[in-house]
Formats: sequence, structure tokens, C-alpha cells
Amino acid sequence: MSEEVTMEDIISFTKRRGFVYPSSEIYGGFGGVYDYGPYGVELANNIKTMWWRAVVQREENVVGLDASIFSHPRVWEASGHVDSFSDPLVECKECNTRLRADHLLEGEGIAADEKMTEQEINELFKSDGAKIKCPKCGKRNFTKIRHFNMLAESNLGNTTGNIDGPTYLRAETAQGTYINFKNVVDTTRQKVPFGIAQSGKVFRNEISARQFIFRKREFEQMEMQMFVHPSKMLDVYEEWKEKRWQFYKDLGFNEDNLRWHEHENLVFYAKAAWDIEYKYPMGFKEMEGVHARGDYDLTQHMKHSGQDLSYADPKTGEKFVPNVVETAVGVERIFLAVLCEAYTEEELDGKGRTVLKLPQELAPIKAAVFPLLRNKPELVAKAREVFEMLKGEMMCEFDDNGNVGKRYRRQDEIGTPTCVTIDFDTLDDDTVTLRDRDSGKQERVKIQDLLAKLK
Ligand code: ATP
Repeated sequence: MSEEVTMEDIISFTKRRGFVYPSSEIYGGFGGVYDYGPYGVELANNIKTMWWRAVVQREENVVGLDASIFSHPRVWEASGHVDSFSDPLVECKECNTRLRADHLLEGEGIAADEKMTEQEINELFKSDGAKIKCPKCGKRNFTKIRHFNMLAESNLGNTTGNIDGPTYLRAETAQGTYINFKNVVDTTRQKVPFGIAQSGKVFRNEISARQFIFRKREFEQMEMQMFVHPSKMLDVYEEWKEKRWQFYKDLGFNEDNLRWHEHENLVFYAKAAWDIEYKYPMGFKEMEGVHARGDYDLTQHMKHSGQDLSYADPKTGEKFVPNVVETAVGVERIFLAVLCEAYTEEELDGKGRTVLKLPQELAPIKAAVFPLLRNKPELVAKAREVFEMLKGEMMCEFDDNGNVGKRYRRQDEIGTPTCVTIDFDTLDDDTVTLRDRDSGKQERVKIQDLLAKLK
């Protein structure tokens, strides 16, 4: 990472190079929602694939699930979201900006969080928050703080006549996992301890969706819940803390940019909660949460549905409600961190360049194929042949636009690890030039060895 990479660098880079676009720009924008461009969707897919590989494919006792975005509204009553999935909202009376009161207090070094009651946080704001100014207009004239529920409502299903209130877009994937726990036990050979993993869109009416894609109103979560015997919960918890840290090491993260943060205020049912924080341009912030949640989730669904979700150990016959160890991360938070890690402005061969030093597995384009000259049909034909051979195996680009130096720069910027150039020697000896993104070094490779080399 360049030492001083700023959020502005990342925002303008991602827009300019087709990674992230603000939503609905031609209509003046839509706050807290973003669209992935052609390279962004590749990077996000690669992040999801790496996560799935680490959490499902390589873990014998974790299975995948894809629950729907909508579910019966009682799911969200049972989970506690309808009553208490809220953040403390304060409004500036001068410019009407809506703000998170806990974030304003934290910004002044005053310990606060979204779990405090309205009374607690109002008292804190009154006694210790005297220095707080509105970040927009600079005035100190705020409304009383009230809790604002973040569930996004819809009317889906109202036509059936069975549901009269609102239905909700899911605010996390976890509830879909809990309500399918019994299905997975009954239809697979998994025995406790085992896990269920999901990745998918979630929706939260964030009060102030700022800081680019760090805090969105529509985002994607990758969550895994391990169901364990109560006596094993803290051991399994420690195991998963280690695995999740290792995941970021395997993605090539600099460990100086990662740290553990322990939650000061645990919700009453939780046994342990730590976050992996990343050093984003605005400072260390939560990237992933690893939580020991006790039996709260299954117990709540048992109470509200009247169904027995306990588990009977087939060996001992013991019946118990499994405890849950959860790992939860947003694709966008990894996406942003990966870009911060990779974005580099530097000199190569005496010339300035911007380069994304992404690991091979994450790079949107794995190889770019160039004919040395676009006006030599025999070079273009040979380059097309190489491109056709590679494109079935990996994401590739064909580029014959501008001189080769410019094409290298374009690929450097989007993080393509290797460029393959077809020149006149290729026509004689069937070798091509491979150019490495990070070092700029070049080597000749036989076309027949190309695939193995690139992989
Ligand atoms: P925060 O304190 O930042 O609001 P949270 O503690 O509410 O996050 P969780 O409910 O634990 O977050 O969600 C799990 C993960 O989902 C977070 O660690 C984060 O990676 C991601 N996440 C949560 N809210 C957002 C958001 N608004 N935009 C993008 N990612 C998010």
C-alpha cells in the first residue's frame, strides 16, 4: 500500500477504472447504495470465492445454504430486530443532518455504542458531549437522541391475506440459517459441532451511510454459524478466531494493518465478541466480527415458533440447544481493505505509475494478451489464437489499442498480474513475452507452456 492512500484516491480510482459506481447517478444519486462496475464485480466475486473456499470447501463440517431475502415477519420479531435493531439518531436542528449519536461521541474519545438505552446515551450526550459540533454546519444545536430502527420494510406477501403488517428485507443472513438448522440436521450427515455458511444481500436503513462502501444500506454479508455443544463453545470460538485471522494473512494483508478489538459492552446473551479491525484511510474500523452467541438464537426461534430446535447427540443421547459461534463480514469491507492494501503509486523504470498489487486469486483479469502491432494481421491472428486458448480457463482481456507501454499501464492499474505479448519472434519460434506486473520483468515462454505458467 502507498503510505498515504486516502479515501479520495480510492473513490476516484474505483470510479475511473470501472470498479464501483455510485447508484442512480443520472438521477442525482441514491445515498448509501453503490453498483459494481466490470472490474468490481470480478473482484467481489473473487473475494466471495476465496471466502467460500476457506469456510465451506476446506471445512469438512461446514455446509453452505442460500436462504431467501424475505421470510415470515415473525422471524424478525423472534430475533429481536423488530423491537431493538436500532441505532441512536440525533438530528442537527440547524441543517437537519441526521447523525449517529454514538459515532459523534466516539469521535470525541467518549466511550459510547449503539446498545446503550435512549436514556443512557442522552445523559452522556448532555454531560460529556458539550464539545460536539455538527460535522456539516459546525453548529451545536441538536435534537434529543432517539432509537431509529434499521429494518427495511416492504409489502411483499401482503396480497396473500395472511400477513397484515410489513414484511422485511433481511438485515443479516444469520436468521435464514437459524430457521433452517433443523432442516440441515435432518437432511445431511452433519453432527454437532457443524457449521452453516451463507453469503448474500442484506439491507439496513443506516442513519448516515458515509465513508463510501464501508457503510452501505444494501450490502453483502458472508456469515458462518457453528452449532456446538455448550461446553465446547469457547474452544471452537478460539479456533475460528485463528482461522479468520489466517484468512487475511493468506490474502496477503500486511498484519500491521490488522488488529483485534474486544467489545466492551456485550449483549446479555453473548459470551465473547471480538472484531478484526482493518486500518482503513479513516483509521482502524471493524472489518469482521467473531462472536460467541450462546443459545439465544435457537431458543428465541423455539419460543416464537413453538418448534423444538434442540439437538439430540446420537452417541450419548444427550439433548441440548446448541450454542452458536458466528463469523460475520461484509464483502464491501474486505473489498475496500483489499484495494487499500493493493493501491500503489510508484516509479517503475523512471516513470510514475498507479498499480494494484493484488494477489493472483483476487485480480479481476488474470492475463492480458497483446499483439505487438495492431496493423500486422499475422500478429493479430496469432494473438487472437492465444487469447482464445486462455479465455476458457481464466478471465482475460485482448488489447491492441495504443503502444504496448500504455497497455501495460492500463493493466497495472486494474491489477492484471501478467501481460502476454505476441511479436514477430512468436511467428518463428512460438514463444511469447510475459511481463510481470510488480517487477516489470519480462521472459520468453513457449505457447504450449503458457497455461501452466499463468496458473
Ligand atoms: P457496525 O458497528 O460497523 O455498524 P455491526 O457491528 O452492526 O457493524 P454486524 O451486524 O456484526 O455489524 O455485521 C457483520 C458485518 O457486516 C460487519 O462486521 C461488517 O463487515 C458488515 N457490515 C455491517 N454493516 C455494514 C454496512 N452498513 N455496510 C457494509 N458492511 C456492513
